[in-house]
Amino acid sequence: MPRACLLCGASAKDCGLCPGCRAALPESTGPRCPVCASPTPTASLCGRCIKRPPKYDYVVSALDYIAPVDFLVADLKYSHNLAAARTLAAPLALRLEQELYPDIVLPMPIASSRLRERGFNQAAEIARHACAEFGLRLSPDLAQRISAGVSQTSLPWADRARNVRGAFRCQADLAGQTVAVVDDVITTGATLNELATVLKRAGADKVVGWIVARTPPQR
Ligand SMILES: [Zn+2]
Ligand SMILES: [Zn+2]
Repeated sequence: MPRACLLCGASAKDCGLCPGCRAALPESTGPRCPVCASPTPTASLCGRCIKRPPKYDYVVSALDYIAPVDFLVADLKYSHNLAAARTLAAPLALRLEQELYPDIVLPMPIASSRLRERGFNQAAEIARHACAEFGLRLSPDLAQRISAGVSQTSLPWADRARNVRGAFRCQADLAGQTVAVVDDVITTGATLNELATVLKRAGADKVVGWIVARTPPQR
């Protein structure tokens, strides 16, 4: 681990941040939709989850996907700074202390073409750190991403569900299992929803999202 804070260069703790930058991370606080973790005025179901109930059961999200979390995610994914995985995993691990242990922990699969180009799956790196202290083993091969599609971030929100349709495959028998899917960011939830559809078709009883950061709603 570097000794310098990933954000300001001051002397850093284990998580890769100095105490000041760690304390200033934008935690997901306030009332949230109990399913998708979007902010709602009274912690009731949000309009989108009422209109189209997701296939996943619910999402736990530790941070808001705003500065400097967006920088840390980009540092990991695009600058290949693996130290940022541990930094992002730390606040997620804190949230997981209140979670029931799932039968299976599945890092969000990425397409083999993307894995080749990046050299690692950022969700697997985050999951490894976030789950270490709970003694949870990862099952990264339980499902595969069989089509890369274009990057979700390049698309308008309304087009994202179509972009990931048919993107995953699961050949395991998940009868009665609870699966926790770990990922870095949730925005529309379309990718998690598509994966949850496939996992439930394979028999999964429950699918929950363990996500580092949630994108705030579009204005
Ligand atoms: Zn700092
Ligand atoms: Zn919702």
